[in-house]
Amino acid sequence: MTSAPLPYGRQSIDDDDVAAVVEVLRSDWLTTGPAVPAFEQALARTTGAKEAVAVSNGTAALHAAMHVLDVGPGDEVITPTLTFAASANCAVYQGARPVFADVDPATLLLDPASVARLLTPRTKAVVAVDYAGQPCDYEALRRVLAGRDVALVADAAHALGASDRGVPVGRLADLSTFSFHPVKHITTAEGGALVTDDPELARRARVFRNHGITTDHRQRESAGTWTYDMVTLGYNYRLSDLQCALGRSQLNKLPGWLTRRRALARLYDERLREVAGVRPLVTRAGVEHAYHLYVVRLDDPTARDAVMTALRERGIGVNLHYRPVHLHPYYRERFATREGQCPVAEAAWTRLISLPMFPGLTDEAVARVVDSLRAALGAGAPG
Ligand SMILES: *Cc1c(COP(=O)(O)O)cnc(C)c1O
Repeated sequence: MTSAPLPYGRQSIDDDDVAAVVEVLRSDWLTTGPAVPAFEQALARTTGAKEAVAVSNGTAALHAAMHVLDVGPGDEVITPTLTFAASANCAVYQGARPVFADVDPATLLLDPASVARLLTPRTKAVVAVDYAGQPCDYEALRRVLAGRDVALVADAAHALGASDRGVPVGRLADLSTFSFHPVKHITTAEGGALVTDDPELARRARVFRNHGITTDHRQRESAGTWTYDMVTLGYNYRLSDLQCALGRSQLNKLPGWLTRRRALARLYDERLREVAGVRPLVTRAGVEHAYHLYVVRLDDPTARDAVMTALRERGIGVNLHYRPVHLHPYYRERFATREGQCPVAEAAWTRLISLPMFPGLTDEAVARVVDSLRAALGAGAPG
C-alpha cells in the first residue's frame, strides 16, 4: 500500500492565483481596497445576482443575512437538520430560535412539507441548504411560504455554480450565502459572500461587515474626511484584498472545475452501479448539480463506521456530512431538541459517507475508492 492518502476535498492553486495575491501584496491596499469590489462584481456575474458582498467566511455571511433580515429575539428560523451547524447557529447569534426541519428521503434536501408543518406566526426566515451541491426545490418552498412575510435564504456553501432549470444558485432565494473555505468550489483560504438582487439588503450587509460604520477607510480617504457614523452594531467581517484577489483568480477557473466535478460524479455513478449495498443520492430533474460532495448511502445502517475506518486505513479520506444538528449536545441542552424530531434525517445520517470529490481527483483514484469501498463492504458481510 504505497499510494498517497487521498483527502475528501482539497483546493487547486496555480501560478495565476499566486501572482494575483503577490500583486496585491505589493500594492497600497491590503484590505478595503479595489480588489474587494472587483471580486464582488465577478461573483455577481457568476451567480446572476445584482449584488455580492464579500465577508470573512461563510458563517459571517449567514450571520449578516440574519442581521439584514432583522431576525431577532422572539423570531424563529427554520433550517434543515442535515447541515453544518452554522446554518442554525446564525439564528442563535441574533437571539432567535432555530427550528429544525426534516429532509426529503431521496435527495436529503430540505423537505417543503416539513417546513409547512413548522411555520408559526413567529417564523421570520427559512435557511434552506443546497446539500452536497444540489439546489433545493425553491419553487415548492415559495409555495409553502406564499402570503407570509418569511424570507427565503439559501445556504449555498455547497452549490456555487449549480442551477435549477437554468436559474443559477444566487437567484433562487431572496438571499444566498457562499463559503470559500479550501474544500469548497473556490477558495480564499477563509472567506464567504452573500448575494442578493435587493440593493438595500446588500447595503446593510456592507455596513454590518464593517462594525456598523457606513463608510470604509478608502471611501473616507477619497472623500477627504476623517469622521464617520456608526449606525448599528456590526462586526469586523471584512475580507482582505489579498483574499479577494485570490477569489477572483479562482472564479476564472470555476467553469472547468464544475465540468470536472460533474465528470467525476458520472464516473462514480457508473462504477457504483456494480457495487452491492451502496447507492448515490437522487438528483432532482432539471438540476445542474455542483457536486461539492459526492455522498453515498449504505443499505446496512450498522456498517458505516467499520466501512469508514476501513477506507481511512487504505488512505482514502472519507467524511461524514452530517450528524443532524438537533442531535448535538448544545442544541439538546439549550433548545431541548431530541431524537425523533426529524425521522428521515435521523434514519439517513447513520448510513452516509462522503467519498473524495475535488477537481484534481483522477479517474484512477475514483477506481481505487470504489474498489476499496467494495472490499470494505464485502469484508463486513457474513460469509
Ligand atoms: C462550509 C459551510 C458553512 C460555513 O462556511 P465557513 O466559511 O466555514 O464559515 C456553512 N454552511 C454550510 C452548509 C457549509 O458547508
